[in-house]
Amino acid sequence: MNCGKVVRRLQLVHKLATSYRSSQHKSCAAQGSGVKLFMPGPLNTTATVKAAMLKDISPRDEEFVKVLAYLRKELLKVAGVSDEEFIAVPMQGCATFSVEATLQTTVPRSSTAKVLVLSGGAFADRMINICKCIDVQHESLPNATDSAANMEAVEKKLRSTKYSNVCVIHCDTSSGFINPVDEIGSLVRQWQPDCSYIVDAISSFGGMSLPTTYADFIITSTNKCVQGVPGCAFVIARKSKLVKCKGNSRSVCFDLYDQYKTLNSSGVFRFTPPTQALLAIQQAFLELEQEGGVEGRARRYKTNNAIIREGMERLGFVALLPPQDSSYIVTSFKYPSHPNFDFGVFHKKLQSRGQVLPTAKVTKGDVFRIANIGDLHPADMDRLLDAVVEVCDEMDIKL
Ligand SMILES: *Cc1c(COP(=O)(O)O)cnc(C)c1O
Repeated sequence: MNCGKVVRRLQLVHKLATSYRSSQHKSCAAQGSGVKLFMPGPLNTTATVKAAMLKDISPRDEEFVKVLAYLRKELLKVAGVSDEEFIAVPMQGCATFSVEATLQTTVPRSSTAKVLVLSGGAFADRMINICKCIDVQHESLPNATDSAANMEAVEKKLRSTKYSNVCVIHCDTSSGFINPVDEIGSLVRQWQPDCSYIVDAISSFGGMSLPTTYADFIITSTNKCVQGVPGCAFVIARKSKLVKCKGNSRSVCFDLYDQYKTLNSSGVFRFTPPTQALLAIQQAFLELEQEGGVEGRARRYKTNNAIIREGMERLGFVALLPPQDSSYIVTSFKYPSHPNFDFGVFHKKLQSRGQVLPTAKVTKGDVFRIANIGDLHPADMDRLLDAVVEVCDEMDIKL
């Protein structure tokens, strides 16, 4: 190699190293900034959960295989189901990837396959979209956006048409309502004993007890109430149903059956797993247990939620749903009718104070949401309310 070439290469290495160091410096500063995410995931995680990721490990390392086995066992425990009937299958990606994998894998490749999605929110709409995209016959049960499924309408549907799959959202994170998963499940069993009953428990898993009596496939997230980092989600599957799903998937990556088969025979993922994320998720499960499991975590979330609900109502905001119809993990508030209220400005001003609300528009009405899950505590709720008062003052909004 000639001398000029070597010098140029060294200069390039130096430049890359310098820019890397300065970006590291910036990210350390951001970590200490104390930003609070009042979002239904991804959310604030503890320093110990983040620290668990500071490790490189081979997915075939004995230690990593053990982490995976621990997680799969822990998932069943937190869901409150037995390992004789159920098995936990991890799937890379966000929870929607697991929703798609579950539909891909459980909907038979038959012209009579038909999915019933009990609508009522943004995440049911997303399931309908997946059905459309993978070209599967589907029906939805139209009902009001902001309310749980209507049981009479559900029964009428189940009596009149044959479905291969029935899907429901446990806690709808777009508005905050809860669906009666077990009541619906009992009707599903009565009228459609062979269909697979799919429950999206993505936002409730880890923070609410799950109605699992009739569920065949429970889709969970480990970066919501479990307080892990994004990168992997898990499907808790009834073994007797999962074993019948071979060959259904129209996709290689989303084949939950193949994922389960490979994991069970070799203990490792088919394709690269998010190794660091799974280490963090293991730490998150340990911390869930330390907090007293689902019950202990629910206690903190309920306290957080009561502070937000009462505090916002005291300031003059109106909640979309009454407390008895709403979960304690996220609350929707109507836009105030005051002429000076502009959600974009309101959000920006809160964000500049380190208080981040979700901006995703997930319901049709003019509402904004405040979630109270993650590594957030009552003092954080008080600080958010103080910031809301300041911002309303600045915007000259008297409620
Ligand atoms: C967050 C959420 C999803 C989607 O999860 P992602 O990880 O964002 O893909 C689906 N359903 C419900 C009920 C949710 O709260």
